[in-house]
Formats: sequence, C-alpha cells, structure tokens
Amino acid sequence: MSAQNMLALQIPEIGKLDLVQAKKPEARPHTLLLRVAASGICGTDPHILHGLYPANLPLIPGHEYSGVVEAVGDGVDSFAVGDHVAVDPNILCGVCEFCRRGKVHLCKNLTALGVNIPGGFAEYCVVPVSQAFKIPKSLPLAHAALAEPVACCLRGVDLAGITSGDRVVIFGAGPMGAIILQLARMQGASHVIVLDPQKRRRERAEALGAAWTLDPVAGGAAQAIRDQYPDGAEVVFDCSGNVAAVREALGVVGRGGTLMLYGVCHKDQNLEINPFWVNDNEITIRGSYNNPNTMARALDLLASGRLDAGAVVTDRVPLSQGIEAFRSTGSENCLKVVIEP
Ligand SMILES: [Zn+2]
Ligand SMILES: [Zn+2]
Repeated sequence: MSAQNMLALQIPEIGKLDLVQAKKPEARPHTLLLRVAASGICGTDPHILHGLYPANLPLIPGHEYSGVVEAVGDGVDSFAVGDHVAVDPNILCGVCEFCRRGKVHLCKNLTALGVNIPGGFAEYCVVPVSQAFKIPKSLPLAHAALAEPVACCLRGVDLAGITSGDRVVIFGAGPMGAIILQLARMQGASHVIVLDPQKRRRERAEALGAAWTLDPVAGGAAQAIRDQYPDGAEVVFDCSGNVAAVREALGVVGRGGTLMLYGVCHKDQNLEINPFWVNDNEITIRGSYNNPNTMARALDLLASGRLDAGAVVTDRVPLSQGIEAFRSTGSENCLKVVIEP
C-alpha cells in the first residue's frame, strides 16, 4: 500500500497549533488503527499548547476520543474491523514501583496518547489494544469520547466518599463540574450546590439537578452556603483549578468533611491552611489523579444513559475548525467541545 496522508492538528512547538497533512499511520502488532470519530478538547490541551503541561513536541494532541477500527495489527484477536471503541489514553509501564504496588495511575513511566505520542486530533490514530474499549454501536461516538473525563471524575467521586444524604458543594461548572454534579447525585447527595462565575454554566448546572447555584465572584458565597448549612457540607469539590476558589471552598467544609482538589491549579500557586482546624475538625483534603480502572464503569454509565452526555458535549466541530475550537474552550457558551475528524 502506498503511503497516504491525513489531516491532523499538530503542536510543532510551544504556542503554535497548525492544521497539517501528516503521514497516515499503520497498525503495528498488538495495536489498532482507528478512524477517529470524536475527540474532546480537554483543559489540558491548551496547557500543552502553552507549555504549562509537559508533553513531547511536535505532537498531535487529543486524549479523549473514540473511533472505528479501520485495521488491526498482528496478534490482535479481540477486535475486528468496524468495531466501535473508546480510548483510555494512559499507558502504564507495569514494572515501576508504583505499578507493582497497584498504584498504576501513578506510574512513573506513564505514556499518554495525545501527550507523549500521537493522539486523537487526527483522521487516524494507532492505539495499543490494551487502551481500547469495545463499545455498543448504540452509544453515539461523540458521547463515547467522554469516557476518559467521566472515568477521571469517577475516580474523584470514589475518593471523595459521598454517602447518601450528604450535602455536596462543587466550585466550577465546566465539563468536569457538570459530570461530577451528575455523579454526586447518583451517589445519593441530598443537595448539590454549584458555584461558577458564568451565568450560562450555572443555568446548565441547574438543568442537571443542582439544588442551588451561586456566583462566587459576587462575594459572600461561602457565607451564603453557611447561612443555609451552618455546619458546612460533607463533601466539597474544587473543579475550578482556581486557588481563590479553593480558599473559598475551605470555608464551607463541615466537621468531618472532605475537600477534593479535583481542578488543576497553577503549579506555582500556594495556599495557607490552618493545621489546627484540619486536625480539630477531622478534615480530609485530598487529590485525585487520572482514571485507574474506571473506564469500564464510565462507559456503562454513558451507554446506559444514566449519565447525560448530551448535556456535557455542547459543541461538535470538524477538524478544519479545530484551531478556532481550541480558542473557544472555557468560554461561557460551551462545555465540552468535540472535534469530529
Ligand atoms: Zn483530559
Ligand atoms: Zn509504571
């Protein structure tokens, strides 16, 4: 077969994003060649573009995607041409200390599709079989592209330990906040309060069942929550990645409560915490990283319709509009933007 080209978005160097003709890849042993169907833009992607997140350049980014099997490599017997699949981009080494101790998502040699090796903002992508999840054809491929972010949110919700009847507060109603809101309600949260400075995002959160929404920038948000719940909330999520929001979030965690730092704050920003308060109130402050063993559950929630993917995927654009789409992420009018090559 003669060498063919494909359309792809490429970051050749920090700060540059180009639409290019790249060489169409070929399936290698134990891999699938996917015709990419849908690839979501993550908050990490602009970070990679601007050099705020380590990646191997030049790079075809895109780590939240789904596709149709175009060809299978040697040694592949569990997938066939035409299968629909969702991709887990995080490839573990299996032999480092963290992998061997079961903390696979903390693998020291983690390689990620769309971060270290070519990802999903292209017409085609080669994916190791270990990273591919066969999905039912009834699940729209644009929704299947949410599998990785939903899987990451499941990890966060698992670690936050929401129990039925808990009051949950979420700072940030972007795509992650909108997913965590839904998962918290499934977990049995009695009330979910959502804070976001953008009116449109607050309205979307209300449509997804938030009991109450607030604009944190208007001031007095923590006090307003305390007025309603003088003893604070059992579980508070930061999904904003904004240190000022995290400071506010600390003010609404109740005794025995948990603050989950889910959003990605700037790595050089710090925050003062009162250790006496943490101790005296038995507060848990914790992080959540990646999606260890949560992909299958995420896909079941999407395929069953329990999780409303249509409320999260607000924009679907062709690859040719990918550069503009990168710019629009984080804007008031959209949550998850999905590129459909
Ligand atoms: Zn992501
Ligand atoms: Zn490892």
